Amino acid sequence: MAGIVHILIFAGFIVLAVHTFSLLGLGTAAGTDSVSSAAIGRTYDLVTNYAATVVFLCMIVAAVRRLVFKPARYAVPPRYGKAHTADAIFLLALIAVLMFAESLFEASKVAYLARHGHTAQSLATLSLPWLLGKSLVSLSPQTVWNLYLTSYLIQALTFYFLLCYRPFGIQFHVETSLFGVYFAKLDRGTVKPVKWGLTPDQIDQVKSIGVKTFTDFTWKHMLDFYSCADCGRCSDKCPANAVGRPLSPRFLTTKARDYCFQHYPVFGKAQNGQPLIGTIYSDDEIWSCTTCGACEEECPLLIEYIDKIVDLRRGMVDDGNVPKSLQKPLKALKSRGNPYGKMEKKRAEWTKEKDFQNAYEVKVLDGSTRADTLFFVDSITSYDDRMQAIGRATARVLADVGENFGILGAAEKDSGHEVRRFGEETLFMALRDQNLEAIRESGVTRIVTADPHAYNALRHDYLDVPSVEHVSQVIARCVRTGQIKFDPVANTSDVYTYHDPCYLGRHNEIYEEPRAVLDAIPGLKRVEMKRSRDRSFCCGGGGLMLFYEPKEEQRMGVVRAKMAAEAGANVIVTACPFCMVNMEDAIKVAGLEGKMTAIDLVELVDRQMLRRRAEQPAASAALAPESDCARSSLA
Ligand code: SF4
Ligand code: SF4
Repeated sequence: MAGIVHILIFAGFIVLAVHTFSLLGLGTAAGTDSVSSAAIGRTYDLVTNYAATVVFLCMIVAAVRRLVFKPARYAVPPRYGKAHTADAIFLLALIAVLMFAESLFEASKVAYLARHGHTAQSLATLSLPWLLGKSLVSLSPQTVWNLYLTSYLIQALTFYFLLCYRPFGIQFHVETSLFGVYFAKLDRGTVKPVKWGLTPDQIDQVKSIGVKTFTDFTWKHMLDFYSCADCGRCSDKCPANAVGRPLSPRFLTTKARDYCFQHYPVFGKAQNGQPLIGTIYSDDEIWSCTTCGACEEECPLLIEYIDKIVDLRRGMVDDGNVPKSLQKPLKALKSRGNPYGKMEKKRAEWTKEKDFQNAYEVKVLDGSTRADTLFFVDSITSYDDRMQAIGRATARVLADVGENFGILGAAEKDSGHEVRRFGEETLFMALRDQNLEAIRESGVTRIVTADPHAYNALRHDYLDVPSVEHVSQVIARCVRTGQIKFDPVANTSDVYTYHDPCYLGRHNEIYEEPRAVLDAIPGLKRVEMKRSRDRSFCCGGGGLMLFYEPKEEQRMGVVRAKMAAEAGANVIVTACPFCMVNMEDAIKVAGLEGKMTAIDLVELVDRQMLRRRAEQPAASAALAPESDCARSSLA
């Protein structure tokens, strides 16, 4: 309803623009409405009659919606400030007055001319001016003349008042959003640099990193604050808000905008220097974000959140303001290159599992051993006991489709994806540089990973790396070329649903490949959750969240598991080790153990795949012939 009303208002304004300006001209020079005398002008006038009517009715609908139905997403909890309902209603009223005055002006003009025997332009049937015209029939010519003048003055004064008033209220978004949308960031998955225009090695020279006070925001981010229409769609889709964390993206914007109006550009003295954290924002609010991107996906005005949040975190990290639970993993990342603090030499331990090792050999690309493809494992899959199974499944699938691949072993460091989004830019750069060096030395020509966070980092945060693919893309291609075929599922009563990981889906738009793989498995029944693809609901794993316990009423993963149950699924398939941790945990917390399971896509493929290996049990990853689908990578 809100969308339709908005489209109608916008279209009405576009139609009425020429008419309104020609009316204003009429007030200073008679005859400036001569456009009306031409045939095209008369047609235009008829259209404007309907446009004014539609906009007028939309104002009533919008006001009723705001005052009577009060959609929940418009509510403003006291901790986020005051509702802007009065401002919104005042503006609706001003526009309604403008439309009414314009219509009355047209109606009285036609009525007056008709009374004096002139051929008057007819009014559009059933439009507001037409209805008003009917009510003027019984009035005296003088009264009609008075109405003509009065409605003109009301129209002109309302219009000028509206123009002057707009920059001080929510309505300003109509103007600022034109520029906001034009300059919007289009490259998904990326994070803005610490400072535009600085090369990475100049970061050390920056005195203060990140956003600490209001003017540390970029001009584009300030423009965003003015451009928000306060519609609440971002907060409505924000998983942090849904589970009661102290974060609601809409209010990140409106609080900053209120701050702007209090301090800039007209009222009072600019009070920059006031730290934002502790005044308008709280620590928990800023740490609560998983950088899932749902808010940005949903915002009709393309307002950015992740970059602002990362910039605010950079400021906090620069001031040493880091949550206690995150200090240990950060320290471990600095000293050991992984958040668990485990030894570097144990990074390839997952390949040493007995059954796996008996059947597969995974090369470690240490300079003397070479391969075409690097399997970038990343920390969680390397060290977490449960996630190591995803590493082994990936290696088995890659080996069985004939990929000539290897891993970096001890030379691999954490991709730094979460570290960067956490705001620790210098640590991220150190991790990235060590990985880059190891990747270059390995001589690989392409990279495959099963971790969407590593995939996103390698694709967007690293420079000059070989082409990167998520394993789901490799598998989908092999399914397409017929290289991978599947056994039918053993239990046909199972219902599967695919949970889109944020960094595979929203940030990299890989929605179809995992689904195509699932649909290629004979007998597999798949349903979609209500929130899927670009509207997927974050499991809560992003942004170092595995190490941070935010204040929340329930876990995001639990909400997601319930969504899967509602869709009628009992198997959640995902394609991300972080999602896996959260979903398995959530199934337990939600009391769905025994009724629901979670499995990674690559584990499912590994389980269902018809193998050449069955005929060649001695084949090894190192020896398997390179496949067509492996070679045709990234085509
Ligand atoms: S990125 Fe996700 S968690 Fe963060 S504010 Fe946006 S919707 Fe909420
Ligand atoms: S940021 Fe975008 S989605 Fe959120 S309230 Fe503002 S306009 Fe609406």
